[in-house]
Amino acid sequence: MSDLLTLEEYKAIAADLAPPSMSFIDGSFRPSVSGNTFESVNPATGDVLAHVASCNSDDVDFAVSKARDAFEDGRWSKLHPTERKVVLRKLCTLVKRNSRELAVLESLDSGKPIVDCESIDIPEFIHTLTWHAELADKIYDQTAPVGSDAIGMVVREPVGVVGAVLPWNFPLLMLAWKMAPALAAGCSMVIKPAMQTSLTALRIAELASDAGLPRGVLNIVTGSGSEVGEPLGKHMDVDMVAFTGSTTTGRRFLRYSADSNLKTVVLELGGKNPCIVLDDAEELDKVASQVCAAAFWNMGENCSAGSRLIVQSGIKDALLERIKVHSREWKVGDPLDPSNQLGAMIDRGHFSKVASYLEEGKEAGYGLVLGGETRDGVFIQPTVFDGVLNSDKMAQEEIFGPVLSVITVESYEEAIRIANDSEYGLAASVFTANGKKALRAAQAIRAGTVTVNCFGEGDITTPFGGYKQSGFGGRDNSIHAHDQYTELKTIWVDLSDDAVDGYTD
Ligand code: NAP
Ligand code: MG
Repeated sequence: MSDLLTLEEYKAIAADLAPPSMSFIDGSFRPSVSGNTFESVNPATGDVLAHVASCNSDDVDFAVSKARDAFEDGRWSKLHPTERKVVLRKLCTLVKRNSRELAVLESLDSGKPIVDCESIDIPEFIHTLTWHAELADKIYDQTAPVGSDAIGMVVREPVGVVGAVLPWNFPLLMLAWKMAPALAAGCSMVIKPAMQTSLTALRIAELASDAGLPRGVLNIVTGSGSEVGEPLGKHMDVDMVAFTGSTTTGRRFLRYSADSNLKTVVLELGGKNPCIVLDDAEELDKVASQVCAAAFWNMGENCSAGSRLIVQSGIKDALLERIKVHSREWKVGDPLDPSNQLGAMIDRGHFSKVASYLEEGKEAGYGLVLGGETRDGVFIQPTVFDGVLNSDKMAQEEIFGPVLSVITVESYEEAIRIANDSEYGLAASVFTANGKKALRAAQAIRAGTVTVNCFGEGDITTPFGGYKQSGFGGRDNSIHAHDQYTELKTIWVDLSDDAVDGYTD
């Protein structure tokens, strides 16, 4: 992490920023075809940061046609993989050089704490891009075991024009998770960031152009889900859509595909992720600190948040005591103040939704272990409700706020049953000193990632995505992410002496 500055220093940087506001298509910033704009707001203050181009299907058509031109003439798709790697690595250098400005812009636009932007979002953006750039010239295709009378080649080709539709909770990181493997594979892209958080994606597109990415390869079209996301999902000339967001919107992309050109769809969706703590868990302070991180990090606006604590009765009271202590480390306030670990909720609408769960929890008579308060219509205190039943709304619905539901169980078997009693299956954690039980739990839980004695999502080397209604069609991160931006092609070469009209059996 770069050394943190003071609040005053961050404010000075913020005051000097001139955020980009036009969409970025075919290598240039452009106003929307309609001339319309929308306000991009700093959720912590309500200040308008920029009037951003409000695009519609005309802009989408234009961007897709430019992405298609770029793909077909091979300016990127047919570039030697090493040359693609060099350009993407140059982009990493430029992001690094501009990392402070990007961190401040990300914090202002999304309400995320500057500490996280500096120590997680920017470094992870660079790491993700570097990893996939390095992969570009290090993966090999295959030949099939077809005997000596033929050669069966199995080659990967870039899938073509990729549409990406992004959420607001990790604007830069979700951009990296999509663009790094897609660009490394040679695809062209049309990306729609979330309306609340379009600014850093636009700046990245500008830096990519400076790094030498040919025009038309990376297009950012700003605007709403209905005006930009839907036309992209239904476009007849988009080959694949990668989406991260809610399960409700994810379903729509499957319909868009079915109603248009059967484009490939990959969905990363919501979660209601269990943290299981068994009676024999060791180092309760570490467990409590991990449970807090799982529930409260990024204001709980995290699809893999551990929002259900499934705890065995013998250890519950001791654990809740330690959670109370560790929750004090999660100070809430001005996102630009480096002493805060939690910033603002993304917008007033989402704040109200999370606040309504706090009210419902109090009315339902749950034990309020901590929190339950809100401030300034913007900030939500980390909150823990005890005595929740897994069938309750509080334990089934994704709140997307810093709210932890505590569910008490008597046995390992009950813990596993309850962990799996959810429509989601994105991530899970299990805390136990018994190695065999830990591995049995990892096998038994139906989720894309299971962590043992810690909370996390793995890293760039491991696939990330969901079982059940948490995902569809593929995985982000790791070499498997590369797979989803490529098509498999078979090339069969006949070597036999007696081939008739090219056909052998
Ligand atoms: P969202 O409402 O589904 O929005 C995601 C994106 O879809 C936004 O860009 C949005 O545009 C767009 N969209 C909305 N309606 C659309 C439509 N009818 N057609 C096409 N596009 C449409 O989700 P969100 O509120 O931004 O993000 C929070 C959700 O994302 C949570 O449920 C969370 O669990 C999930 N998430 C999942 C992962 C994962 O990897 N599994 C990661 C992060 C977040 P607008 O700009 O108009 O909103
Ligand atoms: Mg914003």
